[in-house]
Amino acid sequence: MEKTLMQHPLLSIVIPCYNEEAVIGETLKRLAQFRAGISDLRLEFVFVDDGSKDQTRALLKAAALNNPEIRIIGFARNFGHQIAVSAGVDAARGDAVVLIDADLQDPPEVVHQMIAKWREGYDVVYGVRTERPGESAFKLATARGFYRLLNKLSDVPIPLDTGDFRLMSRPVVDVLRAMPEKDRFVRGMVSWIGFKQTALPYRRAERFAGETKYPLRKMLKFATDGIMSFSSKPLQMAIGLGVTAAAMALLGIIYAIGMRLFTNTWVEGWTALMIAVLFIGGVQLLCVGILGEYIGRIYSEIKRRPLYIVQEYIGYQGDEMPAHS
Ligand code: UDP
Ligand code: MG
Repeated sequence: MEKTLMQHPLLSIVIPCYNEEAVIGETLKRLAQFRAGISDLRLEFVFVDDGSKDQTRALLKAAALNNPEIRIIGFARNFGHQIAVSAGVDAARGDAVVLIDADLQDPPEVVHQMIAKWREGYDVVYGVRTERPGESAFKLATARGFYRLLNKLSDVPIPLDTGDFRLMSRPVVDVLRAMPEKDRFVRGMVSWIGFKQTALPYRRAERFAGETKYPLRKMLKFATDGIMSFSSKPLQMAIGLGVTAAAMALLGIIYAIGMRLFTNTWVEGWTALMIAVLFIGGVQLLCVGILGEYIGRIYSEIKRRPLYIVQEYIGYQGDEMPAHS
């Protein structure tokens, strides 16, 4: 009995949590229900506490006390959602790894369908959001626009309206773990890896409780990471902008000189000058800003700092301690 049990594949569920004390109890309950519906897999739940300032970690620790399937990776501070997900993937030992949000927006029940697809032979099963009730019109519109823009710019197709909710097989996880980049845009990285991928439409639920941990600032950083990590087209746009500005300058020069030489009037000074100076200043700052974004990313890469700092691992027996990368 023990032997056949050990032969069952192991499924790791990775759950990033940041200040989720309002939902974590319910999440644990729903995950337990989900777990009860699975008989032919071994499971581990890898909670990554991304430096929560509330009771999240204490609640997780309490749950881990009487559930040997729960593991906790406690970050030393808040490193951000994408890095928390990466840490969970690093520590997961499963034959397949599922990424799921802590706020129950990704229903655990959908994971059963993901497992079925995995058994059919798919390496990546990503959830595509068909409906997103309870999100602000602003978030919906910006997210929609972002995924379409990203797809136009990116060299690899990244599926539309797809979050990190997904199942990945061990071969994909191993490649993902070997990608050392610091500005991580996990859903794009997984698309880039390839293998046999398939979409699974699901209805994204409302956040169970608490509020979004993605304020506008984090959303903007996330969106620039996505675009910068998967495209150098902004640099080409800078060239295009430069060429346009130069062409307009040439027309302006011809016009100004022509007026001066062949007519009795000339271009009035202040307005023309202001327009030229502000326009060129704007174009230059914009282009320098685009360059700066890429250079900043190069800088963060060459510093070669670790991606995250783990303060504590909980729920691991000595020899299964994850090798910290
Ligand atoms: N999260 C995290 N670190 C952060 C921000 C968010 O680990 O710095 C987690 C959060 O606890 C949740 C998931 O990432 O499990 C998605 O965050 P959230 O639900 O706030 O984003 P939204 O669904 O509103 O886009
Ligand atoms: Mg959410």
